[in-house]
Amino acid sequence: MTITGFSVQFWGTRGSIATPGPGTVRCGGNTACVEVRCGDTVLILDAGTGIRLLGQKLQREKVRSLHLLISHPHVDHLQGFPFFLPAYDPGVDLRIHQAPQAGSPASEPFDRLMEAPHFPVTFRDLRARIRFKTLSAEGRIGPVVVKTHPLNHPGGNRAFRLEYEGKSLVYMADHEPYGLLNGSDPRAGSRDEAILDFTRASDLLIRETQYTEEEYETRRGWGHGTFGEAFRAAVGAGVRRLVLFHHDPDHDDDFLEAELARLRSRPERGGMEIHLAREGDCFHLAGGPDAA
Ligand SMILES: [Zn+2]
Ligand SMILES: [Zn+2]
Repeated sequence: MTITGFSVQFWGTRGSIATPGPGTVRCGGNTACVEVRCGDTVLILDAGTGIRLLGQKLQREKVRSLHLLISHPHVDHLQGFPFFLPAYDPGVDLRIHQAPQAGSPASEPFDRLMEAPHFPVTFRDLRARIRFKTLSAEGRIGPVVVKTHPLNHPGGNRAFRLEYEGKSLVYMADHEPYGLLNGSDPRAGSRDEAILDFTRASDLLIRETQYTEEEYETRRGWGHGTFGEAFRAAVGAGVRRLVLFHHDPDHDDDFLEAELARLRSRPERGGMEIHLAREGDCFHLAGGPDAA
C-alpha cells in the first residue's frame, strides 16, 4: 500500500530547558522535536527531549528508515537523542542530517553528548546503522525537497524548508532577527528580507517566539526573537499558518494563550491562522482532515 500525505506532529515545543509541571500541560514541557511524514518518508526535526516518546512510537510502528535533521547542536535540540530507542536497534537505518562540522568529525556533537562522565552508553555503542549527511542550501531526502537557510544565533543555526506534494513547511527555531538586534546595521535589512523570502507563502511556518518585546530588552544578543517580529515577518511573507514554537521556560500555558489571543486579534493578520505549538498536536498539509 502506498502511503500518501504530508503531516507534522509536535513532540517537543519548549526552548532552552524542559519544563514539566501543572503550568505547561497544555503546550507541553519537552524541548524541540517535530515529526514530519511525507508519504512513507519519516523526518524528525531536532532531537530535544520530545524525541524519547516519538522513538517509542516509531518502534511500535516498526519504522526502519529515519531521517533526523539537526538545526544546530545546542543542548535543547539534542539532549533527547541518548533516549531515542531506534538508535539502539540494529534493524534501524538512521541518517543524521546537519550543517558541516568545521574541522571536526560529523559525529562530534553526539560523541560529546554521550561521553563519560555525562552518559553511560557512548555514541559508538549504538546499534542502529547511523550515517551522517551534510545539509546544503538545497537537496532532496527521498521525494522531499529540503532547503536550508542560515539564521542569526550564537554558533549558527539553520531553518529548513520542506516541499512535498505542492505544499511547504518551514521550521525556523532559534533566531534573533538582524534588524531587532541592531537596526542601524546596514546589512540587517537585506538579511532579514532573505529570511522572509525563505519563508514566503509557506503553508505552515513553525517559528520561535521566545520573548515578548519587553522581555527582549534585557535579553538582546541571546539569539532569540519576539512574538511581534515573528508575526510581522509571517504576515509580510504571506504565510498561511503560523505556529508559535520554542516556548520560553518562563511562559506557562496561560501566558502563551494570552499572547496567542493578542496576536489573533491584530487586524493585520488577515487570513493567516496562528496556533501555539502544543505537544501531540498534528497538522496536515496534504492528505489529511485539515489539509490545505
Ligand atoms: Zn533552542
Ligand atoms: Zn540554540
